[in-house]
Amino acid sequence: MGNINFIQKSNLFSYTATRCLRNEYYHNDCNICIDLCPKGAFHIVRNKLTLFENECVGCAGCIGSCPTEALEIESFDPNGFSAAYQHQNEVTLSCKTSTPCLGIFDVEHYIVMTLRGDKSVECDLSHCAGCVLNETGTLYGSIREKIDGANLFLEQIGSEHRIKTIEIKEEENERRALFRKGFDRVKESIAKEETNLSMTTAHHKLPDMKMPLKRVLLKNSLKEWTSRLTQTTFETSTSLFFNKQIDFKSCTNCGECTQFCPTDALFPTSDKQGIFFAQGKCIGCGICEDICKPNAITAKEGYDLISIAFDRAEQMVHYEMVTCHECRCPYPYKGGDPICDRCSSFTTQFSNMFTMAKDL
Ligand code: SF4
Ligand code: SF4
Ligand code: SF4
Repeated sequence: MGNINFIQKSNLFSYTATRCLRNEYYHNDCNICIDLCPKGAFHIVRNKLTLFENECVGCAGCIGSCPTEALEIESFDPNGFSAAYQHQNEVTLSCKTSTPCLGIFDVEHYIVMTLRGDKSVECDLSHCAGCVLNETGTLYGSIREKIDGANLFLEQIGSEHRIKTIEIKEEENERRALFRKGFDRVKESIAKEETNLSMTTAHHKLPDMKMPLKRVLLKNSLKEWTSRLTQTTFETSTSLFFNKQIDFKSCTNCGECTQFCPTDALFPTSDKQGIFFAQGKCIGCGICEDICKPNAITAKEGYDLISIAFDRAEQMVHYEMVTCHECRCPYPYKGGDPICDRCSSFTTQFSNMFTMAKDL
């Protein structure tokens, strides 16, 4: 069965269902694109995300926010654009001249452009508040949030550069609102931009379908930046990097978290008796925490930039496998009598039954 069955398209926009977190794990409730889409073009059908092609205007506002890069537009590749940004003379990102809606970028893109170019990136937000795509304020808020997140990180790592913004004056904003055009105009301008953006038409496929390319770009930029870092470990988490811990006592080494982690941030040790975690690969989807029946895996504060940049993994737990003295099955031993969890809980839960049978 070809991938084509899982790709939905409207004009220039495409949604690849096999890269969506909702497809990866039935109970995942990622709503990011649904909340951002100004036309409500995404719907949940039988618990799966579905794009209603006729409702999508291809504005690209949702693209940057998708953690797994399941959303794309044919005329513009934000990863290619960010990687090549340093070679451009034009430093201003603007939906009127150089890019589609700035919602096409994520925090990683802003950081990559700043670090690689070693210059401040400028974003023209003067059209956002009054834009037809921003009627609920969600899209503008999301763009601002990503720029603020990137600036916070740049400050943390000691970069002298920031993402600068060009804002609109309030009175101009009100005037602009009077001239709001219909969504057909957005379609027309995007179609026009398609011909103007030849440098961005190179369509980058993910080198590893499990790792978003924007993450790979960010890690590569961080590698080049490491010699300039004054601090590499941070005690509080950000919305960009995530850390995990597994409780040795509660974990049953069932391996479900490693099987369902969409980016392989969690993976088994070669002897399958332990679990590794790589901070640089975690996209914070929460599937592992959700799926773990004994709630053994939880979020942990702090992150380490060297581990992230170089994809270093930390062994979270490791078990010695022993044979249960009751059922003779191997199980991860955690001390005490060599009886597996299943046998010991069976004995506890049904001890009354055995007592009754004996007494009869
Ligand atoms: S933002 Fe991405 S992962 Fe989340 S529901 Fe939309 S397509 Fe799926
Ligand atoms: S952390 Fe939870 S899901 Fe992962 S192996 Fe341990 S018990 Fe299973
Ligand atoms: S480690 Fe957990 S939160 Fe991170 S990507 Fe894997 S499943 Fe998602």
